[in-house]
Amino acid sequence: MSVTEMTRAVRGSNSATQKVMLETAAATRLLESEGILDYSGHVSTRIPGREAFVIQIGSTSRAEVTPESMLVVDYDGKVLEGDGQPPSELPIHLEILRARPDVQSVLHSHMELAIAFTMMEGVKLLPMRARASRWKSGIPTDPDPSHIKLPEQGRALARTLGPHHAVLMRAHGLCLVAESAQALFVDAVHFKENATAQMQALQAGAKPIPLSEAEIAQIEKMEMREWHIKKLWNYYVRKALDEEVLPQAWRDELVPTKEMLKRDRML
Ligand SMILES: [Zn+2]
Repeated sequence: MSVTEMTRAVRGSNSATQKVMLETAAATRLLESEGILDYSGHVSTRIPGREAFVIQIGSTSRAEVTPESMLVVDYDGKVLEGDGQPPSELPIHLEILRARPDVQSVLHSHMELAIAFTMMEGVKLLPMRARASRWKSGIPTDPDPSHIKLPEQGRALARTLGPHHAVLMRAHGLCLVAESAQALFVDAVHFKENATAQMQALQAGAKPIPLSEAEIAQIEKMEMREWHIKKLWNYYVRKALDEEVLPQAWRDELVPTKEMLKRDRML
């Protein structure tokens, strides 16, 4: 029995829900494995065709999340399916998903490196590495350092995020938003690489030189985001399967086929 069949038998959900649950569970484990999530932080992903999204149970270890343990939650915060309580910071996901119809998946993480950039006078996190062109519109910082448990806090955070793809949270963490759980994971890897690069420049005592507008325009000309996401997803999923971060039973449904990894163009 495949993971999908197994999950369907347990939960009676439709296949779109199963796919989103599996990808979100896998992204969560990969993020934990890459040091982007730890004992807390979470990922939510919309379910296509339903007025609902999936998110893990708040108390489940980020290293052990499974599709079967995910919750289906509506945009009023009501748990429709699953047995458990969502994370206490659910308003982050509710309010960002409400405010941003273009966003399919939201990450909230307490990445130390990102938090450092909310605690240094006169220093702003900037796009340094090529892949950080994703954040060319800006990386705002929300001023509320507390846990985001109230709807009004979530709405304020969504307002700070605005049309951007990332928001830092003063002395607390960050949120990233993307078009899928896979894209969100890949963005998080690059977000960490970029913050590392800027911190290394600062630690070397140098003045960081962020990407210029002209450099970003050139990078974007060469960008193949969809293919790049598939390539990195393939790399990290395979590595995680080998290292037993992901169960072998998930392999067939997570690893892209050769056909999917074919480039149909160079630009
Ligand atoms: Zn938090």
